[in-house]
Amino acid sequence: MTCPCGSERDFVHCCALIHSGQQKASTAELLMRARYSAFVVANIDFLYNSFHPSTRRFQSKQDIESWATANSWVSLEIMKSTVQTVEFRAHYKDEDGVVRVHHEKSNFKELQGNWYYVDGRLID
Ligand SMILES: [Zn+2]
Repeated sequence: MTCPCGSERDFVHCCALIHSGQQKASTAELLMRARYSAFVVANIDFLYNSFHPSTRRFQSKQDIESWATANSWVSLEIMKSTVQTVEFRAHYKDEDGVVRVHHEKSNFKELQGNWYYVDGRLID
């Protein structure tokens, strides 16, 4: 399958390598893309583990899983990325099939050579 992150590469040669730890997400944007793909394939462990340790403890795998699986993920649009932030729009359909957009500006931090998602702010 084509990678959901929008790279137009095959999933196994793209975000799957990051999910399995064979390849590091070398930038915040690559981690963001890998996290979006993880929502699509419902890789809850990756989503949980890619939270920065400072915010990971506030997360619940169950909440991540219900958000990942209740929605049907359509596409990812990166609006703007800097070294430590990514603004994106994730297009999805909710449980009722209603088309929605999750527009967020996220903060990332690097820790010992790995990028982590810290938190994000919703933009309307
Ligand atoms: Zn990808």
